[in-house]
Amino acid sequence: MTQQQRFNALVVDKAGDGLKAEVKQLTVADLPPEDVLIRVDYSTLNYKEGLGFANLNRIFRIFPIVPGLDLAGTVVESQSPDYKPGDKVILNGWSVGERYWGGYSQMAKIRSDFLVPMPNGMNSKKAMEIGTAGYTAMLQVMTLEEAGVTPDKGPVLVTGAAGGVGSNAVAILAGLGYEVTALVKEGQESTHDYLSALGANDFSGGDAWSTDPAPLESQKWAGAVDTVGTKVLARTLSEMKYGGCVAACGLAGGFDLNTTVMPFILRGVSLRGVDSVWCPYQRRVEAWDRLVTDIPDSALAEINQVIRLDEVPHYAKEILEGQVTGHIVVDVNA
Ligand code: NDP
Repeated sequence: MTQQQRFNALVVDKAGDGLKAEVKQLTVADLPPEDVLIRVDYSTLNYKEGLGFANLNRIFRIFPIVPGLDLAGTVVESQSPDYKPGDKVILNGWSVGERYWGGYSQMAKIRSDFLVPMPNGMNSKKAMEIGTAGYTAMLQVMTLEEAGVTPDKGPVLVTGAAGGVGSNAVAILAGLGYEVTALVKEGQESTHDYLSALGANDFSGGDAWSTDPAPLESQKWAGAVDTVGTKVLARTLSEMKYGGCVAACGLAGGFDLNTTVMPFILRGVSLRGVDSVWCPYQRRVEAWDRLVTDIPDSALAEINQVIRLDEVPHYAKEILEGQVTGHIVVDVNA
């Protein structure tokens, strides 16, 4: 790629009180001065970008910005000893697409210490079908394993199961032999067939999940992947079996947590937080290595839909309005 060759990028800039997003033709000289130039194959669209395009929660911190918190592609030029032209790479998190230009572009310049080498057996399309959602779900499953939650210990609950992280968690856990119960929001029961296809064995739901639980409810779950927070997390904790663990990553229902110490001190329950954005390099590599085998391709086909770069603003709105089931891949070259 010469300095003058043009490529497409979705650029967001301020326009009056709002934001304007348009596909523009850029050159490499327009990209930020980071040490690795990448030809991007695919990116993803997530709830966080939905917030960004709607100008909510100050997701975009610099303007103009090329959003896109994930990317997968091939190194074209590198000033880092860690990467050479031709290497396949993955990027997730590190506030790329918020404070740094990200993946909604045919070419991107990214800091080498943000990148992970594509593991053998993975390709760009599969990596972005997994995306931050699947990588976070993998981190949650690893967290449960480290807490001693094995398939023989009993059922595992996944909350917000129809969402991006939840869908991936259901598929990974089911593939590893866990008995998975999926919890979806009231009114989302139409997703049960979709979740059964991903491997869910049973479903939970109903009014109880929006009420305050007793400090200790009857023991049901050996482990739980929580993406919802608030009353859902409080009830999950009170329903954990002795010695069980909850891996919590999200706040899809709210960030409050009104609970008691009872599950912790009388049942030895643990609550472990999971963060994907600042996750250290070695743990990222471990998670991506596991994802080569631990998420079935058939599940990825169920979970994902592919959109073009120019469709991103439309789907960003849909994702905020709860119109999207599963996960969206962005084909930046379509
Ligand atoms: P999605 O919006 O795709 O999924 C969230 C799901 O939870 C939706 O199906 C939503 O339903 C459902 N939900 C919301 N409220 C409730 C409720 N009260 N009871 C049951 N289900 C509910 O989001 P993601 O899967 O991408 O992310 C999930 C959460 O994890 C988010 O809060 C996200 O910010 C966080 N996250 C954290 C990461 C980390 O590193 N810690 C990384 C990735 C995500 P509906 O659509 O109808 O509202």
